[in-house]
Amino acid sequence: MNGCDMTCFGLAPDYVRAIAPYQPGKPISELAREFGLAEGDIVKLASNENPLGPSPMALAAAQDALYGMALYPDGAGFALKARLSGKLGVAANQIVLGNGSNDVLDMAARAFLTAGTSSVYAQHAFAVYPIATQTVGAQGIAVAAKNYGHDLAAMRAAIRDDTRVLWIANPNNPTGTFLPWAEIEAFLETVPARVLVVLDEAYGEYLPTDDRCDTLAWIERFPNLLISRTFSKAYGLAGLRVGYGVGHPDVIDLLNRVRHPFNVNAPALAAAEAALDDIEFLLRSYALNRAGMAQLVAGLAELNIETVPSKGNFLLAKVGDAARINAELLKRGVIVRPVANYGLPEFLRVSVGLAGQNARFLDALSVVLAAFAALEPRPDPCGRKACL
Ligand SMILES: *Cc1c(COP(=O)(O)O)cnc(C)c1O
Repeated sequence: MNGCDMTCFGLAPDYVRAIAPYQPGKPISELAREFGLAEGDIVKLASNENPLGPSPMALAAAQDALYGMALYPDGAGFALKARLSGKLGVAANQIVLGNGSNDVLDMAARAFLTAGTSSVYAQHAFAVYPIATQTVGAQGIAVAAKNYGHDLAAMRAAIRDDTRVLWIANPNNPTGTFLPWAEIEAFLETVPARVLVVLDEAYGEYLPTDDRCDTLAWIERFPNLLISRTFSKAYGLAGLRVGYGVGHPDVIDLLNRVRHPFNVNAPALAAAEAALDDIEFLLRSYALNRAGMAQLVAGLAELNIETVPSKGNFLLAKVGDAARINAELLKRGVIVRPVANYGLPEFLRVSVGLAGQNARFLDALSVVLAAFAALEPRPDPCGRKACL
């Protein structure tokens, strides 16, 4: 502060000062402090985390790796890349590892965007796209959503001469909307080769079997395609921070140039490798999500709450005054995610949890809605004041 006060803020470029910081879900420990609640009584359905926790195999591998923490991790991530290469059927030089897939998104922005260029994304799309774009002084172009999801025709039309990156999340967060892959494939045919298309598949493992597609096979045809995936969601490793990008070797080479050295830590590398082997855990996570999603959809319908159909592990619920309802849910130890910052002030995003957690959310919401309804003036049955 000394000798600097408020003026340091002014020293940063306009485009940095204009960034709306990423708003994470409220940590359980913070809510416990605020309301004097026991952490064990709090249900957090706010960050699309895996309610099963990590795979036991991944946990054991991370624990083993801790003994080596005095040493730097393998900065090239050789073993994990080799493992991914075999599993995905792509060469190791087509894979870049990230400190979470956010890191991969940020590398794409830093490698391809600069002041005087632009990137295109959908309204209500993942918040990291505008942040990564603004961080490097490029201009973000938000394209109006269609049914809460990506309007590909409008996104194509929004591409300018100075556009270098276009972001697509499928399914998208926070809306859960999903585009049929054939539409994305047809879209890629129309995108100029100078535009890197980042296809964010953070929720790919939650897609029903019929909705899956070998998008990696497209890379040969579209060298301007970068696919990002993560171990944070279905693999249950959000706290370790590990994800990856797959693309043309030239694109990956560029990302590696801007990648921070040792960006993925040793326990994360080890856990990710082990998580790939734990097919049983992945299947269990998938099945739990399907059941929990059905439970939430049915429970919200019973409360007459509209939802946006979701293919992720979370659901948008149109509750009305979401800020007020969220505040009441917090008092009852239930953390979900308000999404006003995504331009969706009437919605709450709820992550699919264990059956008991979902029930806690539905119960708390029903109590809050009933309390608000009791405060509302009774509707006038005649529809006009004179009736009174
Ligand atoms: C959660 C999420 C990610 C992944 O974040 P990590 O950095 O891998 O934890 C990426 N994209 C979207 C759309 C997400 O919702």
